[in-house]
Amino acid sequence: MVCAGHGPWLELADGRRVLDAVSSWWVTLHGHGEPTIAAAIAQQARTLEQVIFADFSHDPAVTLAQRLCRAWPGLDRLFFSDNGSTAVEVCLKMALQYWHNRGEPRQQLVAFDGAYHGDTFGAMALGARSLFTVPFDPLLFAVARCPCPATWWGDDTVEDREQSALRHLEQLLETPTAAVIIEPLVQGAGGMAMVRPGFLQQVARRVRGAGALLVADEVMTGFGRTGALFASQQAGIEPDLVALSKGLTGGFLPMAVSLARESIYQAFVADNPQHTFFHGHSFTANPLGCAAANASLTLLNDHPERYQGFADRHRPHLQTLARLPGLEHPRLCGTVAAVDLRVSQPGYLHQAGRQIQRACLGEGVYVRPLGNVLYLLPPLSMNDEQLEQCYGALGRAVQGVTD
Ligand SMILES: *Cc1c(COP(=O)(O)O)cnc(C)c1O
Repeated sequence: MVCAGHGPWLELADGRRVLDAVSSWWVTLHGHGEPTIAAAIAQQARTLEQVIFADFSHDPAVTLAQRLCRAWPGLDRLFFSDNGSTAVEVCLKMALQYWHNRGEPRQQLVAFDGAYHGDTFGAMALGARSLFTVPFDPLLFAVARCPCPATWWGDDTVEDREQSALRHLEQLLETPTAAVIIEPLVQGAGGMAMVRPGFLQQVARRVRGAGALLVADEVMTGFGRTGALFASQQAGIEPDLVALSKGLTGGFLPMAVSLARESIYQAFVADNPQHTFFHGHSFTANPLGCAAANASLTLLNDHPERYQGFADRHRPHLQTLARLPGLEHPRLCGTVAAVDLRVSQPGYLHQAGRQIQRACLGEGVYVRPLGNVLYLLPPLSMNDEQLEQCYGALGRAVQGVTD
């Protein structure tokens, strides 16, 4: 039971304090209880807590839309929803209806091996088939898959795997394709798998060449996680549609947006009602969420060094950790540091992850390994001493399971 949260700390009912080393499933961006965001929500709650967004607009939504579009040159339109899965669903439906409205329907969708895009049906279909999807597999629509050439420190096989993935993609793109969806730079739930910017640029070139739309799922990578404000920009790619959620409100409230190019928006503007994008949610553009997001963006604007410098703070600790026997594939991208526990049968259910979680918790550090993948994804407010504490606990936990 958790009673309170302050900065990187969670306060438990039994009086213990634990460091939240995974940002409460990657949402808590700055820290728990960030005062300026809390104040913005309280202020907004007294002014306008919620209003139907079908016939009305409001200042927090307009301000947020303007700020996000300014942060994404080329993406001038945006659509509000509630969570990462719906942000992806919206991108997916927009991409398919875009081709439909243009009178040249395209069905093929391409995603990457190991991808995770959410738990609703469309997002689930885009993601890799896994333990999570088994009961639904017969109903999930087909999605073409491209290998994901994930890399790590000292990897000398990546070049070949990238070339082979690109050849595979080229073959897939010979079929008319509506959209290709990627998690830029880091695949989250798939195991903190990291790809090189150059690979993403090559992917983007081929997608563009095939006339397909490029969708960036930045639900996890957005808002400084990868060391830049957005991973696509860091990787030098220009997606046509972008899904954002998790860190959008600083992790305070569930909210999401899908950004789109003007040319996509224009395909929906017509007198013919069949061209309308019939999609909406009860809490679309909730004013409290918008106020939180605006306050969070102000913090990111005022303190870019907090996310830009995070990788340098991880690096020496990750170097030390990765020398432990039993660990392999250390990798780092912005605030995200990961390493694999060498096991004979990797997978989400691998028990070692649970053991490591228990051991770390005993030392006041909350982690949640993805099977045999150990990672830290701390909130930006975590200081050096606290980060060291996380690595110390993780190292001792690893020694506990490998001895
Ligand atoms: C978490 C996540 C989602 C789904 O977001 P929810 O808010 O949990 O629905 C989609 N894509 C990526 C990359 C994610 O990390």
